Amino acid sequence: MAFKLPELPYPVQALEPYIDQRTMEIHHGKHHAAYTNNLNAAIQGTPMDSMSIEELLKNLDMNNMAVRNNGGGYYNHCLFWEIMAPPTGSKPEGALANAIQESFGSFDAFKEKFTQAAMTRFGSGWAWLCVHPGGKLEICSTSNQDNTLMPGIGCGGTPVLGIDVWEHAYYLHYQNRRADYINNFFDVINWSEVARRYEAGK
Ligand code: MN
Repeated sequence: MAFKLPELPYPVQALEPYIDQRTMEIHHGKHHAAYTNNLNAAIQGTPMDSMSIEELLKNLDMNNMAVRNNGGGYYNHCLFWEIMAPPTGSKPEGALANAIQESFGSFDAFKEKFTQAAMTRFGSGWAWLCVHPGGKLEICSTSNQDNTLMPGIGCGGTPVLGIDVWEHAYYLHYQNRRADYINNFFDVINWSEVARRYEAGK
């Protein structure tokens, strides 16, 4: 069973001006496609071939760098497209909003901590908002294409929100201004999808 590159859930220009069309075309059509193809090549003929991506990552041999890098790249980008949407000005609501309040004190404190995790990730990687069983939220960051489903990586929760801070995610439009990219990312977060992932993961 080969993994498939998912369609974007919105047109490539839908996140403009926060994330530009050309970046989306290359990021989805080239980078995510390459992770998908390389993952499929790396698991062909192994027991991983019949696993879900989550099962594969949770049981991963971390020394298997081809599956670690490309399996992480496949999962992380599938999540990334879904947790973004054309800007609506929405904010977290309901149980997710309460969990943010309880875990971080306020939405602004959450935003500051998430931004700091994304800003201080040296080189390539991701910042995550994760949920633990019981509903507590935690922020962490991981390098390269690692994520918190992998054994011993990050805070160990289930990702409900993530931001890609590889330069390929922002350099065409923002060049070295990672801080501006992160700040604008908050305008295209799909909070209803984050809430869905929170409910499923808690
Ligand atoms: Mn990426």
